[in-house]
Amino acid sequence: MNKFTITLPLFHHRGFIVKCQLLHSALVPEFCTGKRRLKDLLLQRDNRKCADCSAPEPKWASANIGVFICLKCCGVHRSLGTHISKVLSVTLDEWSDDEIEAMIEVGGNASANSIYEAYIPEGVSKPGPDAGPEERAKFIRSKYELQDFLKPSLRIMSDTSKKHSLQPNLSNKVMDSFRSSGPSKKSAGMVEFIGMLKVKVIKGTNLAVRDMLSSDPYIVLRLGSQKVQTAVVTSNLNPIWNEELMLSVPHNYGSIKLQVYDHDMFSADDIMGEAEIDIQPMITSATAFGDAGMFEDMQIGKWLKSHDNALIEDSTVNIVDGKVKQELWLRLQNVESGEIELELEWIPLEQ
Ligand SMILES: [Zn+2]
Repeated sequence: MNKFTITLPLFHHRGFIVKCQLLHSALVPEFCTGKRRLKDLLLQRDNRKCADCSAPEPKWASANIGVFICLKCCGVHRSLGTHISKVLSVTLDEWSDDEIEAMIEVGGNASANSIYEAYIPEGVSKPGPDAGPEERAKFIRSKYELQDFLKPSLRIMSDTSKKHSLQPNLSNKVMDSFRSSGPSKKSAGMVEFIGMLKVKVIKGTNLAVRDMLSSDPYIVLRLGSQKVQTAVVTSNLNPIWNEELMLSVPHNYGSIKLQVYDHDMFSADDIMGEAEIDIQPMITSATAFGDAGMFEDMQIGKWLKSHDNALIEDSTVNIVDGKVKQELWLRLQNVESGEIELELEWIPLEQ
């Protein structure tokens, strides 16, 4: 089973915050200043102990995750980077209205933990207030960075047998979890294609020899019944293609099958290795985020290298200039040598 992570698009950007403000603007009396409301939230019973280690009277918060935490856990949150957790002091730091609204929207530690700690597997226990730095860091990374403890309906495994249970819009689901009256969920329509995938085949390295001294490689990509291929590069084991190929992605997509062939004038083309590309991490995270154009550059997901996939290193899914992109470095399988570099870009159908 391949595994990947996805960054929950809770309150990372303006779009969501704006929505939150709209929701609350009618309800909030004007005399309630933001900092006052934040302190009121801190006094709530579940927020009188750290969301991660239960230490009493936390004075720090992760503004984008929406939890109050102690100083020791705060250090670990900082190490995760602000794209995962933006740490602020309740008393010392200046908070923007947006950040305060985001905290209030989540509703405190109990509410956040009902999502992030919904399912702590056997053998994993929550650190206590006196836990050592390693135990503390391990738990916090698992909880927020890897998101190992989400409830099963929010957890996403790249497993074809589970693909049918995947929900198309993770962000709505998470937002709904925090709201008693969430927005109506869009039903997943029975559209034939959900988007396009632009595959830029960049280059090959150290490909296998199939002719006398070299090979004439080209690459074939298959997705379902579609097949696209690059041009043939003559007599080159380190070919540079920089060629863009387009694939339509159907609702029930599988993985992309990549094959490298040696073009032969007089006989059938010889295979020079193959690889499977799991596109689920990219499509799931892209779908969860919706309109990538509304977000700043950030990492939104990751396809993790494992012993049973072709990845040479973990492959992150990123928003770059409003586009969802993923770079892949693959080791060809069933062949003596060869690596391929690709870049994927997700182009959703207009919603
Ligand atoms: Zn703590």
